[in-house]
Amino acid sequence: MKYIEEFQDPELAGKLLDDIHATVTRPWALMEVCGGQTHSIIRHGIDQLLPEELELIHGPGCPVCVTPLELIDKALEIASRPGVIFCSFGDMLRVPGTGRDLFQVRAEGGDVRVVYSPLDALALARENPDREVVFFGIGFETTAPPNAMAVHLAAREGLRNFSLLVSHVRVPPAIEAIMNAPHCRVRAFLAAGHVCSVMGTEEYPELAERHRVPIVVTGFEPLDILEGVRRAVRQLEAGRATVENAYQRAVVPQGNPAARAMLAEVFTTTDRGWRGIGVIPDSGWRLAPRFEEFDAEHRFSVEGITTREPAACRSGEVLQGLLKPHECEAFGTTCTPRTPLGATMVSSEGACAAYYLYRRLGGTTTAPLEASTVD
Ligand code: SF4
Repeated sequence: MKYIEEFQDPELAGKLLDDIHATVTRPWALMEVCGGQTHSIIRHGIDQLLPEELELIHGPGCPVCVTPLELIDKALEIASRPGVIFCSFGDMLRVPGTGRDLFQVRAEGGDVRVVYSPLDALALARENPDREVVFFGIGFETTAPPNAMAVHLAAREGLRNFSLLVSHVRVPPAIEAIMNAPHCRVRAFLAAGHVCSVMGTEEYPELAERHRVPIVVTGFEPLDILEGVRRAVRQLEAGRATVENAYQRAVVPQGNPAARAMLAEVFTTTDRGWRGIGVIPDSGWRLAPRFEEFDAEHRFSVEGITTREPAACRSGEVLQGLLKPHECEAFGTTCTPRTPLGATMVSSEGACAAYYLYRRLGGTTTAPLEASTVD
């Protein structure tokens, strides 16, 4: 198959669904790790076409959603400082910190800019040698390599007015934490295909074996997701727990060696807090000692931050798959994409935004609502 539409073919989807229905004999809960997969599932109503014994639990794979409040407050503090050009992807501007967001900092005179690549921020640093340019580097293994590259280039060029506010997280430790949680209901994972296209699949067999949990590397189109589900339930029903790659058009076992080498050079792994979940050991990256001078937290000494999550927001439970978004009392009332209380309603990959956008109000999926508000 060559084109994206072919991965949405209703006839092939019907055949995969028939196979899934014929395979499932008892209840299973599967977790799709990535927020992009969650949006695809809700957008196409895939969960509503599956056997009722199958439950899809939405995982914590939305980078904006899991960025800790403390780091957002640090971003707000740095962006407010005179002489700083603070650069970020668009989604982050609307994520509420304790009391305000980056849009408000901009309204109050802060120089906050939306960029499309860390290299845009690097160009700003070259053009403005008398200003401090900070890039808010968030995300999983997918966005970490270009951010590592930006720091690498800054070091090579001697651009001392560039720094990175780092909030990078890693998927395998999150899977470990989910499986170790006492309330865990997950019996199989649909792993994030784009993460594996960078990191490969070598970290997963040990996890699958130790936790007796099938892990199927899965893409993002409807047929990708149905194939991931089909392979996962076949393993579950057969009592197997191995790693399968259902996204071979993008993923090879060793991943992308150049990207991995860049990550290994610039970053080192560290414990990291996940918003709504807490600290997961070894689940993030920070700059390696050699590149520490480019660490914005270091450079701006942002300390003494006191955070306060909105009491009504239950995004921590949503991110752990303990609560569906429409089960939150604030959903669609005090919390909408225009007035988000939590990051899961802001991000284009957030589960709350997906449920709101596709009118998943506890009933059926219908036409998108306010499609532009979460773009
Ligand atoms: S609907 Fe809003 S308040 Fe409720 S969990 Fe989602 S983001 Fe938080």
